Amino acid sequence: MKIFTTKQEISAYFTYKSGKTIGFVPTMGALHNGHISLIKQAQQNSTEVVCSIFVNPTQFNDPKDLEKYPRPIAADIAMLEQAGCDVLFNPQVNEMYVDNEKWHLDIGDMEHLLEGKFRPGHYQGVMQVVNKLFNIVKPDVAFFGQKDYQQFLVISKMVELLKMPVKMVMCPIQRESDGLAMSSRNVHLTADDRLHALILSKALNWVKDNFNTENIASLKLQAEQMVSSEPGIELEYFEIVDGNTLYPATASTKNIVALVAARAGKTRLIDNVLIN
Ligand code: AMP
Repeated sequence: MKIFTTKQEISAYFTYKSGKTIGFVPTMGALHNGHISLIKQAQQNSTEVVCSIFVNPTQFNDPKDLEKYPRPIAADIAMLEQAGCDVLFNPQVNEMYVDNEKWHLDIGDMEHLLEGKFRPGHYQGVMQVVNKLFNIVKPDVAFFGQKDYQQFLVISKMVELLKMPVKMVMCPIQRESDGLAMSSRNVHLTADDRLHALILSKALNWVKDNFNTENIASLKLQAEQMVSSEPGIELEYFEIVDGNTLYPATASTKNIVALVAARAGKTRLIDNVLIN
């Protein structure tokens, strides 16, 4: 695997490699099998797979979260080598940003719903870095996880508004055998947190399983109660929404998604399930 840390290196490499279909998997590292499933999917849909590892400061609204974000770069490189990834782009912050750089793209309400309410500014930071990464890597296809469902919609909106020539692909959520969605933040869970955190996927699956027998308001209320009554879990939101707009779903909505965010101890977790 080629490892590049500068924009110049990567653009020189792809000038030489012109004619390839570039599949791109942007990450913040601390890789797990969820990330690797994206690399595998990219390998099936492109001739050259690029992964980026960059812990993007502008998308963290909590400085402590940024500081303690895991950065096991040697283990990450070993996992990518093992998966057969072609290129790793692993820049430093000063390669990506100049001081006091401004960014804003109006994508409407979506930015302020769900995650946006709890993490103000987060999606502007996400768009800012993905816009830069797309301009550097120039992928034909980009692979993102359903795990960050709202992020996929936000980036797709940016691609549409800026007319970026990138095809967006959403890949399914990879879970541990007990249902917990894989996440780089799971390493921060204590054994107790880890056990209680299972209520997130349980509540989501319960909503999916009961969707045809109960109304949406009652499902939402009961799911909120399930999560809130679990010891050590602090619910932020449980929403059942239209998967295109993220507005509350109604009985006639075609593409429904249930999403949850909660803290397990000190660790913030998100998860979701596609209902129909
Ligand atoms: P992150 O490193 O957390 O920014 O994630 C990088 C990419 O991996 C994003 O597109 C995530 O949605 C995706 N991802 C994270 N966790 C999972 C998972 N459990 N299953 C599938 N994709 C995931």
